[in-house]
Amino acid sequence: MTQQNPVTNIFSTDTNMVEQRTLLLVDDEDNVLSALERLFVRSGYRVLVANSGPAGLVVLEQHDIGVIISDQRMPGMTGVEFLSQVKQQYPDIVRLMLSGFADLKAVTAAINEGAIYRFLTKPCDNELLCRNVEEAFRHFEMKRENQRLRRELQASNRELTDAFQATERRSQAKSEFIASMSHAFRTPMNGVLGMTQLLQDTQLLPEQREYLEAISSSGHQLLTLISDILDDAKAEAGKLELESVDFDLQRMVDDTAKLLAVQARNKGLEIITHFDLQTSPIVRGDPTRLRQVLTNLIGNAIKFSPEGEVILRVSQREDLGDVIGLRFEVSDTGIGIDNAVQARIFERFSQEESATTRVYGGSGLGLSICRQLVDAMDGEIGLSSELGWGSCFWFAVQLARVASLPTSSPAMASGPRRVLVVDDSSVDQTVVCGLLRARGLEADVAVNGKHAIEALTHKDYGLVLMDCQMPGMDGYETTLRIRENETTNHEKRITDNEPRTDATVGYRLPIIAMTANAMRGDRERCLRVGMDDYIVKPINPRVLQTVIGRWLPTGDDRESTLAPTDIGRLI
Ligand code: ADP
Repeated sequence: MTQQNPVTNIFSTDTNMVEQRTLLLVDDEDNVLSALERLFVRSGYRVLVANSGPAGLVVLEQHDIGVIISDQRMPGMTGVEFLSQVKQQYPDIVRLMLSGFADLKAVTAAINEGAIYRFLTKPCDNELLCRNVEEAFRHFEMKRENQRLRRELQASNRELTDAFQATERRSQAKSEFIASMSHAFRTPMNGVLGMTQLLQDTQLLPEQREYLEAISSSGHQLLTLISDILDDAKAEAGKLELESVDFDLQRMVDDTAKLLAVQARNKGLEIITHFDLQTSPIVRGDPTRLRQVLTNLIGNAIKFSPEGEVILRVSQREDLGDVIGLRFEVSDTGIGIDNAVQARIFERFSQEESATTRVYGGSGLGLSICRQLVDAMDGEIGLSSELGWGSCFWFAVQLARVASLPTSSPAMASGPRRVLVVDDSSVDQTVVCGLLRARGLEADVAVNGKHAIEALTHKDYGLVLMDCQMPGMDGYETTLRIRENETTNHEKRITDNEPRTDATVGYRLPIIAMTANAMRGDRERCLRVGMDDYIVKPINPRVLQTVIGRWLPTGDDRESTLAPTDIGRLI
């Protein structure tokens, strides 16, 4: 490329009209330039001219040009070379070539590469020239508009992405908040409900017993409410995650019905369970959440039925080999539900506003949570009901079929009936020890992990109830240490050639986590470090009794096994 003085012969017409369409003419022949310039100024364009490619590039640096008309044959830089460079630097400018039939090959290549938008031959009819320039400007303006829209779109995409990320962050923060709230609520509730239970076991005047029952029932209502609100918040934050464990379906259903039977009997109602399954009821799923849905539906059936019975029916809908489709139905002989109310009954806070239902209380969250849980299981939920004749709520889910449960069995009564309670909270110590002693068990307290390990070296215990969060050595670390000691002692006995007795053949002290951490993953964490079972605070005395019955059994406790905690038993 020969270097020319780039700024020769640059002049512009009507420079004040910035908004005007600006056209650049590039030709080495002055008479062609001035003829074209006159033509286009007359047509209302702002016209800039340059007598060479390099001079044209300088004009482009300083002005906002929409269309270029360039000659091909010019000294130094050809029109094709000039327009190719413009294409690279200013791709939006619409480039026209006005030339004789020279260098047809180079021009054709430039057209094919998109460097030239249109080729016009000299001499060109003025009207045709103007039509082409007009069209070129329209093309240019369309490109600009497209670009503007693309930029706007990109900006709004960016805004959306930012907003989405902010929402994600907020939802993360919210679920962390829920986790800590869950813990924070459960801890004092443990004190309230536990102490109430202990007081109920003492000598009381009838009046005092009545007051205490009111406290107890309000406390339980509050606990249900707290759990509902937390579940709802979790579902909102998209954190309703399910577990996948193997469990005995029939046992879960029977236990749930049994637990609610007391409530039903108190109202003079009967719960009847039909279990119509042809196959093994061992399935894989989330037993806790299934039980929660059943408890809610049966609880409502009891609540809204002044008399009669509540029927729970579990049936198999389909058998897909590895997976079975199950249908759970809860029908009652209660007050029934109006059609209009039915339509929105699974929405949040959709309590029927009537004097009758206001009597029954409740948060209006129960059925919405049921639906969210069933949705999370990819299932369906629905109802049929007639006012005055009762209701039938049903849900259907698919669960994986499992051949059998692991054949492990808990460490049977090899230890003494003495329990070590490891907990730093004095309220929890009092509650748990009180509940244990009320069941005829001896209970000692260790206020932290270090004390627990020490206590275990001095006395024999049949069971440890282990709080997870404690200052110093927490429950997880303490369990790891206890298990390490067990292995060392066991190996020592083998090398010392001690006779093999029950006590030496892999005896393992049952350790039960007792924690207010009720979020997903907490249970797994406990089992991973070597704990055997898991109880959530506030401690339900019946659940405690079941767990004790399982790990420290006597004839009595085994009879009274009520609500298994659905924990995989690891030995
Ligand atoms: P709540 O916690 O208030 O019971 P739910 O979401 O469980 O909330 O139920 C919402 C409403 O649906 C109840 O207040 C009641 O009006 C109606 N309902 C639910 N189950 C039944 C039933 N088995 N029979 C009659 N009405 C029912």
